[in-house]
Amino acid sequence: MIVTVASFKGGVGKTTTSIHLASYLQNKSPTLLIDGDANRSAMSWAERGDLPFKVVDERAAARFARQFDHIVIDTEAHPDAADLKALVEGCDLLVIPTTPDILSLNALLLTVDALKGIGAERYKILLTIIPPRPSRDGDEARSLLKERNLPVFRGEVRRFIAFQKAALAGLPVSKSTDPRANEAWADYEQIGKEILR
Ligand code: ADP
Repeated sequence: MIVTVASFKGGVGKTTTSIHLASYLQNKSPTLLIDGDANRSAMSWAERGDLPFKVVDERAAARFARQFDHIVIDTEAHPDAADLKALVEGCDLLVIPTTPDILSLNALLLTVDALKGIGAERYKILLTIIPPRPSRDGDEARSLLKERNLPVFRGEVRRFIAFQKAALAGLPVSKSTDPRANEAWADYEQIGKEILR
């Protein structure tokens, strides 16, 4: 399975999603995370601590790829139409994280238009960093995406400090000592299940 994670806007949880989908897939079969983001956020996450899967710079990816069953690719933000075409061609599923605020949703809709323009079908939107109730942002964003008949993961990733702690410690959230780490990990486990289903 080759899963590529892309987003039009920064700060929507793209790298956090790449790290945790790779963690989930690694629990099933050897998984490689390819860091294609110029910020090298996934590489530095790995360098700060200890991740249970291999992370490589995209420029070194070719030599490693064949040793792994699953590959997750963290990509550069702001892909243009040509980038999206290449990304879609190179994966089994394109995961597009978005936060449930209007700026991110607008950026997402532009990305989706570009995907439609190139006839892409293998993509799925992931709602991330959902604020807790009483905020209804998550539900409202989901309704908007449903109204437009867009493919959205049934699961979603809630906002937990545990994710920030895990990033700082260089660990997947499942290994974080935060009291809510299990709940945070369960959100990505659900997404992983939907991907492998
Ligand atoms: P991107 O790759 O889209 O720029 P990141 O994964 O680096 O996004 O996340 C941006 C910031 O939001 C980071 O500080 C990260 O720790 C935090 N973050 C990501 N996902 C969550 C979440 N579900 N809950 C709380 N904070 C999150």
